[in-house]
Formats: sequence, C-alpha cells, structure tokens
Amino acid sequence: MEKVDKRAVFLDRDGVLNHLIDRGDSCFVSGRKVRFTAPWKYEEFRLFDRVSKSLQKLREAGFICILATNQPDLAYGLLFSEDHERIMTDVRSLPLDDIFVCPHGRDEGCECKKPKPGMLLLATEKWNIDFSSSFVIGDTNSDVKTGKLMNCRTILINSPATEKDANDKPDFVVANLKEAVNLIVNRFVPKGL
Ligand SMILES: [Mg+2]
Ligand SMILES: [Zn+2]
Repeated sequence: MEKVDKRAVFLDRDGVLNHLIDRGDSCFVSGRKVRFTAPWKYEEFRLFDRVSKSLQKLREAGFICILATNQPDLAYGLLFSEDHERIMTDVRSLPLDDIFVCPHGRDEGCECKKPKPGMLLLATEKWNIDFSSSFVIGDTNSDVKTGKLMNCRTILINSPATEKDANDKPDFVVANLKEAVNLIVNRFVPKGL
C-alpha cells in the first residue's frame, strides 16, 4: 500500500484547551505588562467544556491531534515544574496523539518557541505530516505565524490574549475549540468518512 502522509491538527494549549488567568492591571512577565496568562498553579488549570469530545471528533475524522505549547513561564520562574507536571498529567489524559512543549524563554534563542516551527518539524519526523492539508489552532498571532510558515491552514480562537491588531491574518476566526473542530470537519473532510 502506498504510504500517505497524515493530516494533523496542531493545537495550542492555553486559551484553546484551557482557560487563561486574569492577573489584573499590574502583572509583568519578563518585563512586559500582561493581563491574561497561562495557569501558574495546578489549582488554576481548568479545561474548557467538552475539550475531550472535540479532540475525539478530530481523530474520528482522520486527523492526528498534536499539542504544541510554549511554556516560557517555566524559564521566567513563574511556573514551577511541579505545577507544570501536574497540569501536563491532566493534559496527557486527553485524546492527543503527541505533545510538544517549549520550556524556553524569549531570550534563549531556541528553535522550538512559536512562532518558530521547531515543534511542528519535530512532529513530522515522527508522524510524516502533510502540512498543506493540516491545521493550526491557536489564540495568538504567534500561533497563526507558525501555521503560515508551515503552509497549514490557520484557525484563530478569540481569547482574552488574542491581539486585536494581528497582521498575520488567520484563514478563519472562531469563538472556541468546538467551533474550530466543526469548521474543519464540515468543510475539510470528505463526507462519508
Ligand atoms: Mg495560547
Ligand atoms: Zn524552545
């Protein structure tokens, strides 16, 4: 049988699978003022409703589901590895095929921190991904950039962290993961699959 490259959906984590945390008006992360951040404590980690079901729907439609998440707050000392591990234990219980985490800070010059495509490149070494029939789902301009670099279709989920002046136009903008999944399945999966 001919070997066919797989279709994938690359998912961002914070603002896509789980709620962001409102830090109020005087929060600085690595010298930048930010209001909404990733969870820093396990107790802050809360998945959106029906995430598991949405991921399962993608898999049933023939996609592999790959999480690719930046966690620079590990490098900035805001998220301790113990909390990170507990959070990721919950994440690993979701129907995901693979998980990639960039733990580096902005100034470390790694190749994996989105918008660099390092995590997607690592993924395709393992999974042989057909990027042009794959999707990136994220809530920031950085996610959209990564998807565009790899020639994936891009779906932006509006979250409190979404930049309003994003110049990398996503292919689609939706309100949540469920809508993103419905869009993919209804418009990009042949009927009868
Ligand atoms: Mg995000
Ligand atoms: Zn990295």
